[in-house]
Amino acid sequence: MTLHSAEAILLDQFDLHDQDRIVTLLTRERGKVRGVARAARRKYSRFSGQLQPLAKVRVVWFERSGQDLVRLSSAELIRTADGLMRELEGILLAGYLAEHMLEFAQENEESDRYFRLLDSTTEALLAGVDSDLATRYYEAWVLRLGGIFPAPFDCPECGRPVGEGASMPARAEGVICADCASETVGGLRVSPGAIDFLRRITTSSLPEMGERTVGARVLAEVAEITARVRRSFLQRELRSHRVMLETLARVGDA
Ligand SMILES: [Zn+2]
Repeated sequence: MTLHSAEAILLDQFDLHDQDRIVTLLTRERGKVRGVARAARRKYSRFSGQLQPLAKVRVVWFERSGQDLVRLSSAELIRTADGLMRELEGILLAGYLAEHMLEFAQENEESDRYFRLLDSTTEALLAGVDSDLATRYYEAWVLRLGGIFPAPFDCPECGRPVGEGASMPARAEGVICADCASETVGGLRVSPGAIDFLRRITTSSLPEMGERTVGARVLAEVAEITARVRRSFLQRELRSHRVMLETLARVGDA
């Protein structure tokens, strides 16, 4: 049995039996870690309060070879995400951000960049960065880190720079130039504003992106572009995406 310790962000948890809880954490060193927090549901548990969505904790766990789940020994809170959990929108968004990592990060694989992306996005949201901007930034970066959606500089078909008249083909593998787009049917037009956004995130942090206003139309366009790439890759949409849209629409109607 080996003992490990790492900083981790809580992605998911569900109850097991009467008192235990199964949690999924994201770590820099080991990617996703799934484990049992014994007696986490008891009132005076050593885990109570620490294991909250998107909370950053220092965890210690035991691992036994051949076993699927590790056993959590302790969790010490570094940062809560309570500020996001006060409103329905924040709760839904937290679930959506976490599901990206559940889907894209791997187990037993170094995941420093995914960890930093989730951590910095959470911190920016807690600091009050616009949640639409933060979500678009995060969605695009998850796909980029996954190697499935590079920044739109050169056309993947012909190698020339993309600009006015660019488009994303139905197979959603990248942004192609106007000339190549004219030979493809069913593509999605990509405006210069969206191209600029997808380029700028390469070198700008989320707080830096927040210093300049990005129009609602560009953000909506980026949402559609990244959703197409994500769905094309996963062959489905994230569950939390649908839940978020449907719930917010219902609340909006009420
Ligand atoms: Zn081209």
